[in-house]
Amino acid sequence: MIRLNEIRLPIGAKAEDIKKAAAKELNIPVSDIKDFRIARESIDSRKKDRISFIYSAEFSVDGDESALIAAFPENKATVFEPYNYTPPAVRRTSPLRPVIVGFGPAGMFAALLLSQAGLRPIVLERGERVENRTKSVKNFWTSRKLNTESNVQFGEGGAGTFSDGKLTTGIKDPRCREVFRVLAEHGAPQEILYSSKPHIGTDMLADVVKNIRNTVIQNGGEILFNCRFSDLIVANGAVFGVRYIENGKTEKEIETDCVLLCIGHSARDTVEMLYNKGVKIDKKPFSVGVRIEHPQELINKMQYGREWNNPLLGAADYKLSNHPLHGRGGYTFCMCPGGTVVTASSEEGGVVVNGMSEYARDGENANSAILVGIEPDFFESEHPLTGIAFQRELEQKAYRLGGGDYTAPAQLVGDFVKDRPSVRLGTVKPTCTTGVIMSDIRKVLPDKVTSTIKDALFAFDRQFKGFLLPDAVLTAVESRSSSPVRILRDDLKQTNIRGLFPCGEGAGYAGGIVSAAVDGLRCAEAVLLDEV
Ligand SMILES: Cc1cc2nc3c(=O)[nH]c(=O)nc-3n(C[C@H](O)[C@H](O)[C@H](O)COP(=O)(O)OP(=O)(O)OC[C@H]3O[C@@H](n4cnc5c(N)ncnc54)[C@H](O)[C@@H]3O)c2cc1C
Repeated sequence: MIRLNEIRLPIGAKAEDIKKAAAKELNIPVSDIKDFRIARESIDSRKKDRISFIYSAEFSVDGDESALIAAFPENKATVFEPYNYTPPAVRRTSPLRPVIVGFGPAGMFAALLLSQAGLRPIVLERGERVENRTKSVKNFWTSRKLNTESNVQFGEGGAGTFSDGKLTTGIKDPRCREVFRVLAEHGAPQEILYSSKPHIGTDMLADVVKNIRNTVIQNGGEILFNCRFSDLIVANGAVFGVRYIENGKTEKEIETDCVLLCIGHSARDTVEMLYNKGVKIDKKPFSVGVRIEHPQELINKMQYGREWNNPLLGAADYKLSNHPLHGRGGYTFCMCPGGTVVTASSEEGGVVVNGMSEYARDGENANSAILVGIEPDFFESEHPLTGIAFQRELEQKAYRLGGGDYTAPAQLVGDFVKDRPSVRLGTVKPTCTTGVIMSDIRKVLPDKVTSTIKDALFAFDRQFKGFLLPDAVLTAVESRSSSPVRILRDDLKQTNIRGLFPCGEGAGYAGGIVSAAVDGLRCAEAVLLDEV
């Protein structure tokens, strides 16, 4: 097959136009092009008066494809073999069923692979199935009654279910293609297969999760909801079983020699239990900060100029970073165009924020996190769980500053950069799902962090004129951008306790939906290859 890149077309081009453009570039009749598909689509809005779309296309032609593209540089045209994901052959012989803890992206993809391989995995998920979980989350946002087992962090689908469902990732693992294929096969919009900024939206994610659940069950897997993994049974340095609490009260056991820990970055009780069991855990760099909100219309105008409300362009996004020569840097993260700021608490007495969008991204505001890196040497203590304690402290401060009912503390950018508390809102109407109280977020975050955010805001405004909008709203606290710990694993993906496979974001091996899913596949492959 041929892959042809850099096909530039005006806004609104159809697949047929791309095909014609490809044929024209190769100087062949359109009819010679077979098996045509769009491989990549991105927007080039650097020239505001001539915004265009850039495509890559994949197709086959009869005859010598290499000769046909010989005149083109490699970054323009290549001949390639389509990628098909092939899991390893099963070497595992143990009759015991593997246990997967957590049904987020890592757990879901591990369960898909192990069930397709006939190993009949048992999944323990502390939260509810997505239908009930959605009710619990909405109930929390309206009545402020937090279900500490089923919320934005915990429950079927994992942390990313109430998100923008952005599928961008920095990893270059070929398994990413398999993850996109499986998500599209289970109901995600087809354009995730070629969009340079693929996203699903929280409204569609719930159905995708349900469909994946059904596939795992059809392949012999079993998913136990409202079941919290509470203890590891170990003998002679190896896993012998697990204990779990069903519906918050009944303790049960499963005999197994294989446990995949796909627990996410918020399972602090589980990490503490594992640490006390002697599982080797290390501190890991992570980031904290705030969420910022601007009117989406402003971001569209800054990004697209006079085409700001062209529906074919959709809601504009941005990605900014500031890395001064000396001192800490700040960067924007998990930008949600036309989205909502969500209260993503999972512990009583703690306020945590994050972002979410629906597939249409048609909300009034744009939001993103502004984060600052926290390195292990930020803390005097060498204790591996110090980062968790720090996060918890920030969240409790935000809770108290918000008035102790999960209302989040907020501040206008204009006041923040002038070091004065906010007393009233301006023109931007915040979307935080549990509301905001105007305050002074410097009372939540350490000076090192707030001063870095301040510097970053000025730097971002130099890069993206208009970003330093005085009425833009900062909401605190964004404390769970990634895991503050790494559960150590060897080349066989196992901990110092044999048969225990730490996996995904919570274990410190992924950041984001796609990389967590890829790590789920990697660990499941390690289980298939493990000769026990
Ligand atoms: C609001 C929000 C928005 C986000 N937006 C995006 C986005 O747009 N794009 C993106 O790439 N990433 C996003 N992320 C990050 C992304 O969700 C995570 O990186 C990803 O979900 C990590 O996958 P995981 O499977 O490793 O862990 P998780 O998704 O966190 O799943 C862990 C699962 O384990 C379960 N669990 C934990 N402890 C136990 C236990 N003891 N017993 C049983 N079950 C347990 C939890 O209930 C949970 O379901 C967002 C996160 C949040 C919170």
